[in-house]
Amino acid sequence: METYPEKYDVIVVGAGPAGLMAGITACQRGASVLILEKKEVAGKKLLLTGHGRCNITNMRIPDNFQEAYYENSRFLTSALRNYEPTDVRNFFKSMNVPTHEEENGRVFPDSEKAQDVRDALVEKFKELGGRLLTKQAVLSFTPADSEERAFRVVTFNKVYFGSAVILCTGGVSFPATGSEGDGYGLAASCAHEVTPLYPALAPLFLTGFTEPDKSDKDDCGSEYSLAGVTIPDIGAWIWADGKESEKVRGELLFTHQGVSGPVAMYLSRYLPNADHLYSNMRIFLVLDHVPGVTMDEAEKQLLAAMQADPNRHMKRLLCETFRLREKMAELVLTEDKAAHDVTKLERKKIIETLKGTRLPIAERTPMDVAYVTRGGVNVKQVDPKTMESKLMKGLYFAGEILDVDGISGGYNLQCAWSTGFTAGLYAGSSVTQAEEH
Ligand SMILES: Cc1cc2nc3c(=O)[nH]c(=O)nc-3n(C[C@H](O)[C@H](O)[C@H](O)COP(=O)(O)OP(=O)(O)OC[C@H]3O[C@@H](n4cnc5c(N)ncnc54)[C@H](O)[C@@H]3O)c2cc1C
Repeated sequence: METYPEKYDVIVVGAGPAGLMAGITACQRGASVLILEKKEVAGKKLLLTGHGRCNITNMRIPDNFQEAYYENSRFLTSALRNYEPTDVRNFFKSMNVPTHEEENGRVFPDSEKAQDVRDALVEKFKELGGRLLTKQAVLSFTPADSEERAFRVVTFNKVYFGSAVILCTGGVSFPATGSEGDGYGLAASCAHEVTPLYPALAPLFLTGFTEPDKSDKDDCGSEYSLAGVTIPDIGAWIWADGKESEKVRGELLFTHQGVSGPVAMYLSRYLPNADHLYSNMRIFLVLDHVPGVTMDEAEKQLLAAMQADPNRHMKRLLCETFRLREKMAELVLTEDKAAHDVTKLERKKIIETLKGTRLPIAERTPMDVAYVTRGGVNVKQVDPKTMESKLMKGLYFAGEILDVDGISGGYNLQCAWSTGFTAGLYAGSSVTQAEEH
């Protein structure tokens, strides 16, 4: 039976993309590295990425990184410089996983298989002499004391010692993949603050959009009939108890439960945690059906159309004037009257609704359907140049455990690669340099 030494230069907790990249990089610096993974295989979430095709990075980085990583984008400046999308592509190419670029800078492996990405990382790590142990959930760890000069990392049946530890346990979304938020407790056990957690890159569940009772014939007129409709260009924001999120513009897809697609996914991170806002209908998705047109312009255009054809019904007029889909015009209108029957007040109301249709959000999207977690280890307590804790020497963080989340399009994996590389580089170098002295 093979026996493993229990003392390593670097112990990485979690074999997702960040952990595997950190482990590989630390090995390349000459460190002995152990990765402990709680699931039976490495990279379970990685296998799901890009619907199994793995949107590995995005070539628009770093030009758009400030918009792409929201409020904590600056934290990533050094890491993204250390390891750019071209580095990612070259690295995978060197492991026989060539990639290609698609629309909006998205990069995928030529094989279109996330499994090739995961397998290449695992093979590379092992080829470099790293040890990967699965079914080894880390339950706790205690900081290096002066005698052992190493962290004690405890799993259910073993204790390992590492001169440095890199926490790469991911977030809390899609928990079946192993990302169940364990790392937050581990970080908190050494005084790290964990900022509030929210689902991000998730669909929105809207009131009135649940699957109708098929036996109830009257139900066919509900919003549910919008399911399957895609609007290529719409403006949208979240209104929560008087506070408005940032406004975005893009594609929206209606589903059986609400909305999905880029706009919904982008906005989902702004859903507040307070349950009473949902039960009291104090939270809405607001839609601007004509985002390129001001309120005044829209009113002028509608008035001109109404005057040109006063007998025409408003639904038709809205569809023709603003190129609205019929179902969208139905969302805007409370009643489909002929233009000559519409009062000035009613016309103004129609324009207001056209520029801001409020759809109540039924509930906060559950974490298990969110692609990403917003929130995590407070980046103010982590050195952005090295990913080392500012509170505890020798402890590093990488990937989604950090309070950084990106938009859809390969940005979250790039964050994992760049922070994983940086943490592996500095953790690996610090221990090997210390040994040389
Ligand atoms: C369905 C889906 C599709 C996605 N598609 C894309 C995409 O195409 N492009 C993109 O950029 N992003 C995508 N993402 C997001 C991306 O997958 C994540 O941001 C990324 O996986 C985060 O990497 P990570 O290594 O930080 O964490 P994770 O991938 O979550 O890995 C964390 C690892 O730590 C392990 N672990 C947890 N706790 C412990 C413990 N106590 N002890 C030991 N091990 C532990 C877990 O089992 C897991 O293997 C997608 C996400 C989902 C859910």
